[in-house]
Amino acid sequence: MNVFNSLTRQNEELKPLEGNQIRLYTCGPTVYNFAHIGNFRAYTFEDILRRVIQFNGMTIKQVMNLTDVDDKTIKGANAQGVKLTDYTKTYKDAFFADLKKLNIQSAEIYPAATDHIPEMIDLVQSLIDKGVAYQSEDKSVYFNVRKFPGYGKLAHIDFDHQQTGARCASDEYDKENVGDFALWKAWEPSDGPVAWDSPWGKGRPGWHIECSAMSMKYLGETFDLHTGGIDNLFPHHENEIAQAEASTGKEFVKTWMHCAHLKVNGEKMSKSLGNFFTLRDLLEKGYTGREIRYVLINAHYRSGLNFAFSALDDARKSLARIDACVEKATEGTVPEWANKHLEDFTNAVNDDLNIPSAFAALFSLVRDANGKGAEGTLSVFKRMDEVLGLIFFENEKKEESIPEEIAALLEERKVARAAKNWAESDRIRDLLKEKGYAVKDSKEGQSVTRIA
Ligand code: AMP
Ligand code: ZN
Repeated sequence: MNVFNSLTRQNEELKPLEGNQIRLYTCGPTVYNFAHIGNFRAYTFEDILRRVIQFNGMTIKQVMNLTDVDDKTIKGANAQGVKLTDYTKTYKDAFFADLKKLNIQSAEIYPAATDHIPEMIDLVQSLIDKGVAYQSEDKSVYFNVRKFPGYGKLAHIDFDHQQTGARCASDEYDKENVGDFALWKAWEPSDGPVAWDSPWGKGRPGWHIECSAMSMKYLGETFDLHTGGIDNLFPHHENEIAQAEASTGKEFVKTWMHCAHLKVNGEKMSKSLGNFFTLRDLLEKGYTGREIRYVLINAHYRSGLNFAFSALDDARKSLARIDACVEKATEGTVPEWANKHLEDFTNAVNDDLNIPSAFAALFSLVRDANGKGAEGTLSVFKRMDEVLGLIFFENEKKEESIPEEIAALLEERKVARAAKNWAESDRIRDLLKEKGYAVKDSKEGQSVTRIA
């Protein structure tokens, strides 16, 4: 399996550093609002990544942090006059519900920043002890970027031609403003009740230190893989490397991967621009998690993806085509041509997660199965779906795509059939057909499909 490593800017084989397990850290959500589908582009990319790793027979230990203390969460909680933990709980719960809707596999560990303050304090202390961090006159603690020779290696900053030396208290800034960044932020009145004691006085951790402390706690000082959206590359990931490597003297992460942004009319979908849709917004419009997942994964993760409703409509049609074919697919000896499509699929996903090309292999399978007969193809669909997570996404198909009115008619029909009232059963079947749904009866009961 080959992937593009943002650190070396090369395609490289992904092999576990130890045993058969890939240790993966993914930067998780800041839980101050509902995640938008741009965020979910990053999380579906990471889901595909972990599925392809397992598809190749490796095991995975994934850690995804929850940023539940930072400038934005504090501002939100204080504006509403509620405790920080109560404020963030709403969005943590919503996040996990959304992951399920998109059939994103769970990470093994979801550490919250506020549960790891002692680990962060220890890491800051070790950086002060090593002489790469200092407490400034504003009482905050900063990392001195000039003291870490490797600074800039991920973002490829040409350090010598830059005006540096300034300090930057906020968590996010651009490359032109490289400077010493905050590890520990001294308490300010606007922080309200949010503060922890530390050797440097009352305050709270900076955002970057969270990820270094929590990743090393759960994955070790050196681990395989670290990912995020491209906007995380600088300064966040650059700073994570500096903090970890300056403290341990060891290489922090072997492979870095970053996904491109989901855009709207050419601009990054983001909360600050106001051009975003949450998952809830789209579900309310009648789209399913399955359709949204289809759109988010069906572009190469390093290419820009422009969001459009027409793509969701196309996804619905494509999924109906796949479903109709899979209905006919059976177990048994796999035809040679189907194995060939599986081979193409495998080569595509192992070539830096080329999902558009993998979809092409899937649709070749559908086309041939429709033409030559679908006998023996079921295992191939199942194998492909280990990566895609779309085809056998049963709950979603049944629960989400059936409107309440149709569900109620099905329930009435069930009662009629139990009472052996066949005339009523047939009447409801015809009514469902008029409304665009075909009913099938089997030993397990009735099932419906939308008539495309
Ligand atoms: P945040 O909650 O802003 O820290 O972002 C969580 C994750 O979503 C990070 O990995 C970001 O890089 C990613 N992200 C934010 N906006 C987008 C977008 N429009 N497209 C893709 N990924 C995004
Ligand atoms: Zn992070």
